[in-house]
Amino acid sequence: MAWGVIAVAAVVFVALMWFRAPYGRHQRRFGPEMSARWGWVWMESPGVVVFGLVYALSPGRAALASLAMAALWLLHYGYRTFLFPFRVAEAGKRTPVAIFASGFVFNVVNAWLNARHVGAGYADGWLLDPRSWLGAALFFAGRRINLRADAHLLELRARGGYAIPRGGLFRWVSCPNYLGEIIQWCGWALLTWSLAGASFAIFTAANLAPRARAHHAWYRERFADYPAERRALIPRLW
Ligand code: NDP
Repeated sequence: MAWGVIAVAAVVFVALMWFRAPYGRHQRRFGPEMSARWGWVWMESPGVVVFGLVYALSPGRAALASLAMAALWLLHYGYRTFLFPFRVAEAGKRTPVAIFASGFVFNVVNAWLNARHVGAGYADGWLLDPRSWLGAALFFAGRRINLRADAHLLELRARGGYAIPRGGLFRWVSCPNYLGEIIQWCGWALLTWSLAGASFAIFTAANLAPRARAHHAWYRERFADYPAERRALIPRLW
């Protein structure tokens, strides 16, 4: 199943290089629409519900290292499901159902896969392995970058309309929130040292890199004074 996720990630990457996913600034009419806020809740909920159930029924659920990993996962998905939707989408905003439905299906598969793997049980000694420390450090570093960047964007949004984000990693890239998200899940892949974790990191990059490219092009078209040295996702490179 993890190899299936990687194969789908390749297709998604190629498709999104041509086609801008129709939500946020790239939104256009694309079939029936639903509340953006509740769409986010529904789409992200498998990260809590499916992961929680599968993990709770897994044989290695009491292992210390598995519990620590499950706590990180649920920290992220608890926030994404119950708090983030009420910050990112204003009341009354609508988004195509297709966006949330595809995200929901991915989240069911991904949560199941990662819960199965983490819940299989890790030896306690794994917590002494440098891969687990480095992975956890990357997870938290990526999360911090993502949260700070999202907070700045939401501040701009609250002032009304789109503006050029400035400061922090925005000096270097147009989408530090996406960069942080990718780093976070690379950290998870290292921490869990699993194909399940790696497939999620690969999918996240395949999904967000083309979107960062689309956002970057949009900024440059829209703002004549957009900083020329800024790249889309990777400082100085791309
Ligand atoms: P965006 O950066 O497109 O938008 C985030 C929020 O900020 C939206 O409310 C957006 O408004 C607003 N915004 C963005 N740029 C500006 C600006 N220049 N001026 C004013 N307001 C702005 O992120 P997404 O909505 O695509 O993603 C939100 C979060 O979800 C991110 O943290 C992302 O990493 C994560 N995510 C993770 C995925 C994964 O594969 N793991 C997939 C998709 C998202 P508006 O919506 O109106 O444009």
